[in-house]
Amino acid sequence: MVMKGKKGVVLGIANKKSIAYGIAKACQEQGAEMAITYLNERFEQKLAPIANELGCNGKLYPCDVSKPEEIVALRETLEKDFGKIDFIVHSIAFAPKEGLSGRFYDISKEAFDIAMDISVYSLIEIVRELKPILSENSSVLTLSYYGGVKYIPNYNLMGVAKAALEMTTKYLAEDLGKDGIRVNAISAGPIKTLAAAGIGDFSFMLKWNQAHAPLKQNVTIEQVGNSGMYMLSDLSSGVTGEIHYVDAGFNIMGMPAVEFSDE
Ligand code: NAD
Repeated sequence: MVMKGKKGVVLGIANKKSIAYGIAKACQEQGAEMAITYLNERFEQKLAPIANELGCNGKLYPCDVSKPEEIVALRETLEKDFGKIDFIVHSIAFAPKEGLSGRFYDISKEAFDIAMDISVYSLIEIVRELKPILSENSSVLTLSYYGGVKYIPNYNLMGVAKAALEMTTKYLAEDLGKDGIRVNAISAGPIKTLAAAGIGDFSFMLKWNQAHAPLKQNVTIEQVGNSGMYMLSDLSSGVTGEIHYVDAGFNIMGMPAVEFSDE
């Protein structure tokens, strides 16, 4: 039970297909206690049974990261519930539809600002707001994707946001290391979730990854969940500022291994 005695908060569960659910489940199975958050009332009812299953004991709270007052309220509630917490999962991203297909250079400033605010700045704001209640041996985890490092068709605006998120992870890691707070990211391979459904031609991404990843598979939320749990546990106490790939090895490929017949 490597998470026994650990308490934390998981932001970003929309349903049981969410990567955040995979991470929360792995943490619960290893003895963690947690609160989870929902975006708005539309998700509140759907998340109630999931909160029960995760043993949250009613600790299901609203947190739309575009509303700073909800982040403040979350800190106050967590402090009442737990005193200090040991981990935060930030599994949140959003870009307006215009940013996830078509030509990248057409992107509006409004869409750009929204994507950066929800998908990147929210990590900084959550960590800053919750820092007073983070224990001196705590771990923060966010979720990235390879489209923040290399061009991926249609990932467009989210690719730029993930590049910023990965550097945000590293700068936060340096800043907070002296306070005993670790900050890491998992760069997951493509998984069919609600957020992924918004990306143009996502099914092609899944096929391409499966065909070209060394493990010849797409990863599952259970696989990402177990790696996430490791990042949140003391097993990774020497790791911070890391972008850890859980993508069946896809990121190491420089060229697909295809055979050409001699003509
Ligand atoms: P998901 O739709 O299950 O989760 C996205 C979550 O973001 C939802 O719970 C949604 O409510 C939340 N969210 C959006 N706007 C918000 C706001 N303003 N305030 C608070 N929450 C908000 O999809 P997912 O694929 O599990 O995504 C989780 C993370 O994993 C994202 O950062 C995503 O970019 C990343 N990721 C996904 C994949 C993939 O292929 N699915 C791959 C790599 C990384």
